[in-house]
Amino acid sequence: MANSAPKLDPRGRKVKILATVGPTSRSPEMLARLFKAGVDAFRVNMSHGENADHAKTIEAIRAMEKQFMRPIAILADLQGPKLRVGKFKDGQAVIRHSGHFKLDRNPEPGDETRVELPHPELFGLLDKGQRLLINDGKIRRRVIRADENEILCSAEVGGVISDRKGVNVPEAVLQLSPLTEKDRRDLAFGLELGVDWVALSFVQRPEDIIEARELIGGKAFLMAKIEKPSAVTHLEDIARLCDAIMVARGDLGVEVPAENVPRIQKDIVRTCRQLGRPVVVATQMLESMRFSPAPTRAEVTDVANAVAEGADAVMLSAETASGDYPLETVQMMSKIIRQVESGPDYQSQLDVGRPQAEATASDAISCAIRRISSILPVAALVNYSESGASSLRASRERPKAPILSLTPSLTTARRLTVAWGIYSVVNERLRKVEEVTSTALEIAQAQGMAKRGETVVITAGEPFGQPGSTNSLRIETLH
Ligand code: PEP
Repeated sequence: MANSAPKLDPRGRKVKILATVGPTSRSPEMLARLFKAGVDAFRVNMSHGENADHAKTIEAIRAMEKQFMRPIAILADLQGPKLRVGKFKDGQAVIRHSGHFKLDRNPEPGDETRVELPHPELFGLLDKGQRLLINDGKIRRRVIRADENEILCSAEVGGVISDRKGVNVPEAVLQLSPLTEKDRRDLAFGLELGVDWVALSFVQRPEDIIEARELIGGKAFLMAKIEKPSAVTHLEDIARLCDAIMVARGDLGVEVPAENVPRIQKDIVRTCRQLGRPVVVATQMLESMRFSPAPTRAEVTDVANAVAEGADAVMLSAETASGDYPLETVQMMSKIIRQVESGPDYQSQLDVGRPQAEATASDAISCAIRRISSILPVAALVNYSESGASSLRASRERPKAPILSLTPSLTTARRLTVAWGIYSVVNERLRKVEEVTSTALEIAQAQGMAKRGETVVITAGEPFGQPGSTNSLRIETLH
């Protein structure tokens, strides 16, 4: 992945694409087609599939990374403490729109009057009047009475419940570890195979992030999925403690009224940008493309809005995991992003939402490169960063020119694949600022990001290898 890497055109866009791998996309051939079509990082969803399949996927992505000589991130998404009902006599039951329904601790198969809820921690915790949502919120109940053995609910909306359907209790903060036994096993498995990012589901409190970090032990970066109202309340503290955030709109849209999701998404994107944490907008972005080669106009607009709001990345779930058109979906997403980014308002909108710089040399230099790239026709902003911290601060400014991040660390390069506007290249460790200048010019040219006569801005920090030490800026013309 060093200077001699064959030229693979930079994506020509700043916003990144994450794609979930599943049965329709896990063959090495399809993974390569998706990567070439624009996927920057792949998500392995531990809620589905067998670990043996996930292991093959990870192996195929690593082989592809070597083949294309480009860093590619792998995100292991842990299922988290997802609540589910037990089983039914006939595999399912029709719950009436009126009348009562009971969730209890009896493991006998359920019927239209009751079912087991195999989560002891919920009994005695719920209060009268709280909502209980089953099967993605399609069945709605309100708690009438809850004690140590049963939760009696009144009807709001009925319907069909089948075995092991999900349950959401938005108003309750559960006394649960963010990692179940399964998550701990999946985490150990993912870390053993060297995944780069771990996504934590159903985060409720900042303490959840601290607990997960201890278990991860610095072996991967941590992305917190915001899908619980309590996580929205503690967003800033959670974002400070983790490395990136995912707006997990699937469960979020069940836990909060769906009409609140766009506003919450905007708030999350703004907060993450302020804190310099990459933010991924996820779920149902091009949902109809699971079964259709073309998206709806509303879906196109949704992706476009997430890009315009300043998201770092957008994510595909079932569209690429199990849909009929994984390749077309990635191509479509890439086209939408490019279209928005080339629009007349994109840059000015990002400038309006610019976060306050902190009083550090790194932020002062990041602000300066944004200004410089709006005054001069800069081909690339080259940053040499061992930890990736200064490249992320530059990305937070959302400059007009692309950021070429040089790093001796493959781990850093993979981390940065989810961040806005950063194109990462692994090169040998450098010792002096002068070396950075010559290497930056050489690599910018080799990667097709700058040609003779074009301007390149170069930033680095001495002493090298110390995060946050960025203290030099040069403007160079490529000869
Ligand atoms: C979500 O709920 O939006 C999400 C991304 O999580 P999952 O796909 O695991 O449900």
